[in-house]
Parts: sequence; structure tokens; C-alpha cells
Amino acid sequence: MESVSRFTLVEFSALSARYQLLFNLAAQARLGAQAPYSRYLVGSAAESETGRLYTGCNVERCTYTQTTHAEQAALDELAKNEPYAKVKLIVIVAAPAGVFFRLDAPLTGPALTRPDQLAAPSCGHCLQDIWENCHGDRSVPVANRQPNGQIMITTIGSLLPVPFGPQDLGIDFEALRQERQKEE
Ligand SMILES: [Zn+2]
Repeated sequence: MESVSRFTLVEFSALSARYQLLFNLAAQARLGAQAPYSRYLVGSAAESETGRLYTGCNVERCTYTQTTHAEQAALDELAKNEPYAKVKLIVIVAAPAGVFFRLDAPLTGPALTRPDQLAAPSCGHCLQDIWENCHGDRSVPVANRQPNGQIMITTIGSLLPVPFGPQDLGIDFEALRQERQKEE
């Protein structure tokens, strides 16, 4: 049976310059989070297939259900600027308010080795949002900073192994993207 759980753990300094840039943007976006209720600040940065970068943070409302999640905000920016474009990579940085960290600081705890030790990058709602713009590609990378400073890299297919997406409704985002480009 094929395994669907693939997680890579690396230190920030071992990441490519592109990943480091996205993590820095996500960490910067996190500082803009408006989260007076959970006091849990989240930032996200997404790269589209054309290499453009989008960021978002969580914005809570007192009704709770109207809260915007960071990944959702970043992906909505992507959709606004490049309708139907594929997301190539998305990273997430989350920590309670008052927790300050440097992405390139030494690890603050033992290295994590098992999936059951990992802090999830995204909630189910956001996994669905990410999948919407993956064009059916389960290998799209999703990465987040673990509380000890390690970076976890996995794929949307590992986090959401049996996804429901536009394809299930007969919708082809790639065709829609090309159609939209012709109109421009
Ligand atoms: Zn979420």
C-alpha cells in the first residue's frame, strides 16, 4: 500500500533561498494578525505558478465564524490577482501572541522525528482552500514552522489524501485560467 504521509523536517538554514523568502514574508504577515480572541497569530505566504508572491494573516471577528484564516487571505489575494492560477508553494508561520522568534535561530527543543509530534500547518478549512487552486496536483508543497523552530515540508496530498475539489464538479481550473488570460 502506498504511503500518503510524507513529512520532511529541516532547519531553516537548510532551506532554499525561495523557501526562506516565503517564510520571512509569512512571519512578517503574522505580525499584522488581528486575533484578540484566540491571541494566536498566523501568517502565510503563497507563490503562484508565475512566481508572484501573496501573503495573508488571520483576522478574527467577535462572531468567531466570520474569522479569516491566514492561508485563505493569501490565497484570496492570489485569486484576485491571477484568477484560477495554480498555487506552487504555500508556507505558514503560527505562534501565540507574545511569542517572538527568529526563523534562523537555533532549535529551542529536541528535533522532531515522528508525524504524531508535528504541529499541523493548516486547519481543514484551509487545506480545502489550498486544494482549490492546486489544479489537481497533490505534490504541491505545504510547509510550516514547528514550535521548536524546525521547518516541516509536506504536500497537500499528504495532508488531504482523498480531497474533494473542482475536478469532482467537472471544473477545470487550467482551462478557466487560459480563458481568463485570453479575455485580458
Ligand atoms: Zn485555517
